[in-house]
Amino acid sequence: MKTRLLHPPVGIGEVVDVLRAGGLAGLPTETVYGLAANALDPVAVASIFSAKERPLSDPLIVHLPGIGWLERLARAVPLALVLARRFWPGPLTVVVPRSGLVPDLLTAGQESVALRMSSHPLFQSVIERLDLPLAAPSANRFGRISPTSAAHVLDELDGRIHAVLDGGPCLHGIESTIVEIEGGRLRILRHGPVTAEQLAGTAPIDPASSATLAPGGLKSHYAPRTRLIIEANPKPHPPRRGLLAWSRDPGGFAAVEILSPGGDVREAAANLYGAMRRLDAAGLDLIVAEPVPESGIGKAVMERLRKAAA
Ligand code: AMP
Ligand code: MG
Repeated sequence: MKTRLLHPPVGIGEVVDVLRAGGLAGLPTETVYGLAANALDPVAVASIFSAKERPLSDPLIVHLPGIGWLERLARAVPLALVLARRFWPGPLTVVVPRSGLVPDLLTAGQESVALRMSSHPLFQSVIERLDLPLAAPSANRFGRISPTSAAHVLDELDGRIHAVLDGGPCLHGIESTIVEIEGGRLRILRHGPVTAEQLAGTAPIDPASSATLAPGGLKSHYAPRTRLIIEANPKPHPPRRGLLAWSRDPGGFAAVEILSPGGDVREAAANLYGAMRRLDAAGLDLIVAEPVPESGIGKAVMERLRKAAA
């Protein structure tokens, strides 16, 4: 299959045609690029799993064209509506009991489904024209680094998908926050751009919240091919070590990527995956990552680094 790199505005209509025909398209979102297909078409959903080489036990997130779709795909959960009104469109995924419309394959047979609405204007244009929910996991091969540009999507999936719509770099740069609703409380399954502090204003957060539950309960994820370790005072020796630095270059490393020269965790999140990809391509023996402050989205960055190091 030849993967077409499409550009707006003409590319929007072309991507809609691909998706309507049951095809696969890489789309920009405000978090990372997604690999989208019609969520209500089990064959299209199956082709997402095969393009990504994703195990069928790892459920997909469904993106909705509008908030009204929440009640079509999920059974009524009042707190889900409260969260949706407050945080959608935006980087929050809500796990709720599913309706009969949702294919089994998509949820890995679970009785719950993960839903969100993207705030990216191109994603919105596509899904509104299509007027169908889109299954859209990150557009990378399973276990690898999520793409934050159209070029990254091609690195991962060229020849395996029909098209990629180029929307430039992603705003947040890491995946959505995932919350599960249980008896009026929230459990954070994956930390992300919507922080625990923001969510706490909506409902009590279950202290049992665990970063190890998602994605798919896997310890290792978001990983470069080069081995990565986390070290608070990174040493450049032995040689061929690369540094994923928080805010400054201490010198001596074979390659260095600085996540945020200004010391801002949001900037670090936006740069994280691109920096990991560049270090991964630098022919290093080891990538040493410096911890970032675990405030705000910094918590999500550290969660990704721990999974990359596992
Ligand atoms: P992504 O690859 O960024 O689309 O992330 C998808 C992740 O969402 C999965 O790996 C799961 O951890 C989580 N997820 C999706 N559906 C469910 C669900 N029904 N219950 C719990 N977690 C889910
Ligand atoms: Mg993913």
